[in-house]
This record gives sequence, structure tokens and C-alpha cells, in this order.
Amino acid sequence: MSYCRMSRESDVYMYADVDGYICCCGCFMKEGGIFRFRTRKGALSHLLLHRAKDDTVPQYAIDRLEKEIKEVGNYTNNPNEGAFGAQAGDLPNNLSGGGINDGRC
Ligand SMILES: [Zn+2]
Repeated sequence: MSYCRMSRESDVYMYADVDGYICCCGCFMKEGGIFRFRTRKGALSHLLLHRAKDDTVPQYAIDRLEKEIKEVGNYTNNPNEGAFGAQAGDLPNNLSGGGINDGRC
């Protein structure tokens, strides 16, 4: 289930992966092209960063993350999230701490 896909209305492809992370796939801000987030706030601030860099990000992707934060909470459902130190994805505009990169996309 993707939050948004590359299309005329989106320069970003963001989705929840099988491990429960939220991924920004094909991301120009990351060598290797993928950011993974443990928190929805981290993913949300990343989308806003794309907008700040003049990428087109559909409002429904932002709305959906905000809604999920309210309804199911900030953390993604990755069962291993506790092992990584949970707050890293919360840092706004922190590219190196905002996600982990294992090269999968
Ligand atoms: Zn990105």
C-alpha cells in the first residue's frame, strides 16, 4: 500500500514495506535511492522536505500520514523498532538520521 507513487501528480514514491517501515523509494536525496522511516512523523517531515525542494507531493499522502499519526500513532508497526533507537526518524530535515538505507527498493 503506497502513500503516493511516481506520477504526474507526485515526484515521490512512498510506501510501507513488508518489514513495517515507511520507505521513500527512488529518493534523489539519498545515494542508493531509498530512505526508510520508523516513524510516521519522520516520513511526514521527509515529504515536506521534498516539497521544500520543489518536488510535487500530493496532499493526500500528507493527509494520510497525519491521520495515521492521530489514529494509530507515530511508530510504524515494525516489530524490531525498539532495537534501533526510536527517535531518529523524528528529527526534521535530518537526512542522515531520518532513515536507514539498506539499498532495497
Ligand atoms: Zn525522499
